[in-house]
Amino acid sequence: MRITKQKKILLDALAECSSFFSVEELQELVKTKNQNMGIATIYRFLKKSEESGKVHSYICNNRKIYSTHTKNHIHFICERCLKIHHIHLAKADFLQKNIPGKSCHFQLNISGICTQCLTQKET
Ligand SMILES: [Zn+2]
Ligand SMILES: [Zn+2]
Ligand SMILES: [Zn+2]
Repeated sequence: MRITKQKKILLDALAECSSFFSVEELQELVKTKNQNMGIATIYRFLKKSEESGKVHSYICNNRKIYSTHTKNHIHFICERCLKIHHIHLAKADFLQKNIPGKSCHFQLNISGICTQCLTQKET
């Protein structure tokens, strides 16, 4: 009985996540529903949701983040200042022919020199 109620609260909270979120953010959202839930419970829930395809995960700034949509997550990392820029690329259909299966979402890291660093004079 308790488990079912917990699951419903978590599913409701999940439905409110429109963008990328972390475990802590989901926990905060649950808190706004007057529920205190341990982080382990939320981790377990997210793991199960990921296995069933309800949730997709990414690594951002050494943290695991999640999305309920099959959004793509792309970083442009500056090799000089190490700043991470998030960029958008909706589709990468051209990759499909190289994938031994069906693709779902992707995460990409692109390295380079950011505009700011490019315009800065070398010292
Ligand atoms: Zn990111
Ligand atoms: Zn830079
Ligand atoms: Zn996915």
